[in-house]
Amino acid sequence: MMENKKQKFLNKFEKKVLSTIKDYGLIKKKDKVLVAVSGGKDSTTILYLLKKFGYKVSALHLNLGLGDYSEKCLINLKKMCEEWKVKLHVLDMKKEFGMGMCSIRCKVQQKLKASNCMVCGIVKKWLLNREARKLKVDKIVTGHNLDDEAQTVIMNFLQGNLMLGANSGPQTGSIRDEKFVPRIKPLYFVSEDDIRKYSKMKNFPVVYEPCPCTISSLRIKTRTFMNSKDENIKLRIVKNFLKMIPKLREHLYKEKLVYCKICREPSRNEVCKKCSLLNLKI
Ligand code: SF4
Ligand SMILES: [Zn+2]
Repeated sequence: MMENKKQKFLNKFEKKVLSTIKDYGLIKKKDKVLVAVSGGKDSTTILYLLKKFGYKVSALHLNLGLGDYSEKCLINLKKMCEEWKVKLHVLDMKKEFGMGMCSIRCKVQQKLKASNCMVCGIVKKWLLNREARKLKVDKIVTGHNLDDEAQTVIMNFLQGNLMLGANSGPQTGSIRDEKFVPRIKPLYFVSEDDIRKYSKMKNFPVVYEPCPCTISSLRIKTRTFMNSKDENIKLRIVKNFLKMIPKLREHLYKEKLVYCKICREPSRNEVCKKCSLLNLKI
């Protein structure tokens, strides 16, 4: 009886992820996709599922150099990718920038008021896009889930700028450029609780503790508030926001995309966000 209930949950979960992929046309059978894997439950779950669904999948891990935490994540990822026969690419922040993410953000924060996640997010996105292009994949897959996305909508609203979310949704859409690899989020409608349950049922050897650098007071406050809300409210928030996205993107399309004059990566400004941060004489 218990087994039956467990199997039902697993099937329902997988069906929901597959429906998001199909309904939003996220991946075509011929597409090569690169999953950005952190070693946590979300990205591991989507890597496992895309492989199971039969897509052409490989994985990329950015080793942020966060001590034991990063080491544990990498050991687990190597084990899983070997078992699932998925090619794992690893990029080391220390090799790329001469220092780990903690040092990068400390240097940036000495000059600028920026949260850890903001600095990390900008640098990671830049690296991911560059690597995905080098690897000639069609899409980058991230493990963002319903809770992350609902929190982001609320945070953008609290900051008075819903435009910040114009490029979100299950698929990035406002940027079209040969140097830009589209990003997709097949777990967009799946709650964090369900992902944790799925990952535990599957016994994935993942790190469940949060990243030791997550210190964004607005994110933490929003998460605490949103955790008291049930899944339907989070779904309503993201679904209503999705209806607004086409309007927001109309505005974004008017902005011309250029190549950063320092790194030549696609950017909305003369100097991209990553170069503006790192140019603070790190
Ligand atoms: S939680 Fe924040 S600091 Fe940690 S890996 Fe994610 S973006 Fe980077
Ligand atoms: Zn740049």
